Amino acid sequence: MRRLALTLALVPLLTRTLSAQRPDSLGEEVRKYLAVDTAALALSHVLLLDGTGAEPKPDQTILIRNGRIAAVGPSAEVSIPAGVRTMDLKGQTVIPGLIGMHDHLFYTAAGGRAVQMSYTGPRLYLASGVTTIRTAGSRSTYAEINLRDNIGKGLVPGPRIHLTAPYITGAAGGGSMDVITSPAEARRFVAYWASEGATWIKAYTDISRADLRAAIQEAHRRGIKVTGHLCSVSFREAVALGIDNLEHGMLTASDFDPSKQPDVCPVTLVGRNNEVDPKGEAARATIQALVKHGVSMTSTLAVYEPFVANRPTKEPRVLNAMAPEVRAGYMKVRQEIDSSGTGPIAAEGFKSAMAFEREFVQAGGLLGAGVDPTGIGGALAGYGDQRNYELFIEAGFTPVQAVRIMTLNGAKILGVAQRLGSVERGKLADLVVLKGDLTADPTVIRSPTVVFKDGVGYDSAKLIASVEGRVGID
Ligand SMILES: [Zn+2]
Repeated sequence: MRRLALTLALVPLLTRTLSAQRPDSLGEEVRKYLAVDTAALALSHVLLLDGTGAEPKPDQTILIRNGRIAAVGPSAEVSIPAGVRTMDLKGQTVIPGLIGMHDHLFYTAAGGRAVQMSYTGPRLYLASGVTTIRTAGSRSTYAEINLRDNIGKGLVPGPRIHLTAPYITGAAGGGSMDVITSPAEARRFVAYWASEGATWIKAYTDISRADLRAAIQEAHRRGIKVTGHLCSVSFREAVALGIDNLEHGMLTASDFDPSKQPDVCPVTLVGRNNEVDPKGEAARATIQALVKHGVSMTSTLAVYEPFVANRPTKEPRVLNAMAPEVRAGYMKVRQEIDSSGTGPIAAEGFKSAMAFEREFVQAGGLLGAGVDPTGIGGALAGYGDQRNYELFIEAGFTPVQAVRIMTLNGAKILGVAQRLGSVERGKLADLVVLKGDLTADPTVIRSPTVVFKDGVGYDSAKLIASVEGRVGID
């Protein structure tokens, strides 16, 4: 009852922040990136992957009005009212705006670099077709609150932001995270950040079961959710404690390490997980536990790939976006990994992680995806989200499945699927126009021309040009 009352109290606020944003409310720094800024617009003759899991639909027309999808259907059937501007997009694909579920607003890279990306992050996400992000753990949380508000006011370009509190971890952790040493402390932390507007709590690798349990209870009492990049607590233990979502998939599951002690993160985790059979009994039991309790999972394959030797991880546009010093540091580490023959993550381990995610989806699990722009810095905001799509195809998902994971599934995990996540009449017009046929060539995901958020069309190339050489600085 208490939870229901809280949820209802939030309705007027949510309606206000999620209503469509018209261009006349956008400031100069946003307007300079606009491609289309009319209240009514038709996108005609597109190949549509609508995010629902439906088969690709050729020759569709989407009518956008006042920031929402007013109509969608076969071009022969959707009538375009007189005077409405029409963009003929024959040969192009439209997908829903991507929902990045592990899309931090900070960036870490080789050599211990860590920087808040209040400038490059929102521009790169939006340019790449990511129109909604969950930050999945923050370092400079007030920088992110202020950024979220400024994007909402139309002062800077960027995606919608679902705010995650700073990380919580246990006594063996530290850095920029809150080291929690008692359930009371966990509850106090969650209460504070919920009151500051965080809708997610992020637990990290050294938290204890007792403290995680307290954090989850307090979060649920306040109508917010908990996700974890865990290790000291196994996936199955976290499911039993009532967690809502688990990050990263198989490579961070400590369920498969026979030497694991309670509440302790085994140092051998990744090495052992290189050898886990994703179709074996233990993997199946873990997947079943998640599915049975409705715990979703976030795939972040793009951040792991640069740790695997001889993978294609030197894409020119990625290197161009990096500041020169960051690029040099990244290339040096990549060279070391390639020449070692096998990096920190073995090629087989990476394949197993992919297979684990396929098994999870096949078993009925709700999988979302995000970039996680950390590690050695090879997975950049937005570009890495796009790379996830290509890796899903490599993993054996169909284009329709991969798009659904990256759109509607994320909306479901965030609880916003009524308004976002698919191209359906009445939803907010968050759409990505891709140059080419995505079903014929997965690299088409790298080619957004116009990205619509709330029906406002942003010029992807202009946003990208604005960040060249700046990733790793700001
Ligand atoms: Zn992360």
